Amino acid sequence: MDGSKSRLPKPSGIRLPQNRPKPLTENKANVLEHRAITTASRLALHRRSKSVSDLRSLMDRPRMVPKINSILGTKAAAAAAATAAVKVAQKRKVEKGSDEVKPKVMKHAKIPDWDYKSRFNQLREKHTVLNENYKKQLEKLQDVEDLETKYEEIKKQHETLEQKSVILSSKNLDLTKDNKLFKTQISERLKKNYETLKQNYDELVEQERKNTERIEKLTAVNEALESSLQDLTENHEILTMKHEKLTAEHSAMRADYEKMLVDNKSLNDDLEKEKEKCVQLSDHVSNLKKDVYSSEILRRRLHNTVQDLKGNIRVFCRVRPPISAEEEERLQCLINYIDEKSFEIRKSRESVSAISGKPNDLKAEFALDRVFDPNSTQNEVFEDLSQLVQSALDGYDICVFAYGQTGSGKTYTMQGEPGDEAGLIPRTIDLIFNSIGNLQRTGWTYDVKASFLEIYNENVRDLLNPTSGQNLEIRYNEGKGTTVTNLIIQSITSARELKTWMATAHQNRAVAATDFNEHSSRSHAVTKIYLQGYNEDTNTRYVGSINLVDLAGSESAKTSANERLTETKSINKSLSTLGSVMLALYNKEKHIPYRNSKLTYLLQSSLGGSSKTLMVVNISPFEDCYMETINSLRFAAKVKEVKMVAKRNKTNLPSVIGKT
Ligand code: ADP
Ligand code: MG
Repeated sequence: MDGSKSRLPKPSGIRLPQNRPKPLTENKANVLEHRAITTASRLALHRRSKSVSDLRSLMDRPRMVPKINSILGTKAAAAAAATAAVKVAQKRKVEKGSDEVKPKVMKHAKIPDWDYKSRFNQLREKHTVLNENYKKQLEKLQDVEDLETKYEEIKKQHETLEQKSVILSSKNLDLTKDNKLFKTQISERLKKNYETLKQNYDELVEQERKNTERIEKLTAVNEALESSLQDLTENHEILTMKHEKLTAEHSAMRADYEKMLVDNKSLNDDLEKEKEKCVQLSDHVSNLKKDVYSSEILRRRLHNTVQDLKGNIRVFCRVRPPISAEEEERLQCLINYIDEKSFEIRKSRESVSAISGKPNDLKAEFALDRVFDPNSTQNEVFEDLSQLVQSALDGYDICVFAYGQTGSGKTYTMQGEPGDEAGLIPRTIDLIFNSIGNLQRTGWTYDVKASFLEIYNENVRDLLNPTSGQNLEIRYNEGKGTTVTNLIIQSITSARELKTWMATAHQNRAVAATDFNEHSSRSHAVTKIYLQGYNEDTNTRYVGSINLVDLAGSESAKTSANERLTETKSINKSLSTLGSVMLALYNKEKHIPYRNSKLTYLLQSSLGGSSKTLMVVNISPFEDCYMETINSLRFAAKVKEVKMVAKRNKTNLPSVIGKT
């Protein structure tokens, strides 16, 4: 029956086998279904001719009965068909008159031939059965016809469906194409969308990161702001308190101010009165100024007259005290200070002259302008010089010499030690600037300059520029006076500044150790202070100068070490020239031998004329220095004699007692 089943025309061709594989896609399923439908349709068409009427004709042929049965599809139908076939065969046999063929179905329990009744009944039963079968067969035939009609209808439906299927198939193909295109487009669009979204996402992530950073920063800023806000709040509170306090102070001050305004008014009135008085006083002051000026002129004139009377050359002698161990180690001369101006000096023990064999009378008496014993202070020595400093400010040239053998106290006298022991130079500086300060009140302004040089072995050296190697030459010009080429002349504004320069110069000074004193100098040191005063009120100008000379040791060649011979010779030459110049000056000789030594040539404009000279002869109190002391004192006496001769027209004898 399974094989016949497949041959049966499918009434509609719509149903598909139950166990067919599930469609992968709907389209494929459609295609497969379509194929099945087509195949079924073909089969149906192929078998269209096998209608019910055909089947009836086939039934006539017994060989075809099973086939018909299979077509009809039921056992009952098969049985009916078989019966019908037997009947037909029997009928045909009867019709043809032959009974050799008996149908098997008609075989029943054997009824005797005579039993007609039973045979009739049997036949009647058979007839009934056959009749029923016939009826059933007819019904079935009717069913078959109905089926045929239905088949036709279904076939038509099938064709319609097939057409529809073709249309659908083509549509399906179009749709598939569209679908593919759509898919591609969608895919591309999706891809694009994905990329855009990804980009957006990345941007958002970056944005998020930045935002996080910004939030962190803002949080920090916020915290800082909060803390500063707190500080500000505190400050504000403090300021508010201060403000309140100040407001209170302000109102108190306001009250004071009001009071002061009243006071001010009365003061203004007083001021007006005072102003009037001032005008009167101012007139009085100008009158007084005139008086002061005239008395100033008078003072200067008197001062210089006094100085002139004192002599243009003043000779002082200063005896230095023994220092530290000297008192015990060295024998001292006996010095008898007779008065301020004269003294006696002698060796402490008798000595015998090597030539005559007689004892030498080693006593000498000297009278000079002033004698300073070892206890004299620097200030006392300066006292007399201070008057000459005043003359320098009044437009005179002053020359101060420290003369004496090495170790006699020249440098001590000129430079001294710091403090109370300051020498003539620092004291002169202080006095100059003090006087300038005082003179400013009477309308004077002063221009101060200074130069520092030394003469060593007849060579001039700038002590402010000792290593320059420049050639320093002394020039004398009748109008300008003495100048030194390439010498630094330093402008000075204060005593302190001038002392600083002095210290520099002192350090640079050529110092050589000798047998007498390690620190004694073998050169002449000249400190020159240039003073230029100007009075605006009277349009007066004074130009003066002060030369402060620390001379080299005056000891003779005999007492000097051999290697120092050249130095000593040139020193002696310059010192003897100094004596000769002074002598010639005050003898009013035509030729004054200034040019015989650098020292006298340098001081040419400060020696003679209206210039004033102060010579301090320093002596050592020791017996071993006795001869040098006497030499120095003789030189001093000679200078003093010059003065006496000059002033007194050589009428008085020189006050040198000397050897008798
Ligand atoms: P010079 O310059 O003539 O060679 P110094 O001025 O160097 O001699 O004096 C030699 C020493 O004697 C120095 O130590 C100095 O301090 C000392 N001296 C000189 N004169 C005095 C004095 N009047 N009082 C105290 N000490 C003095
Ligand atoms: Mg000295």
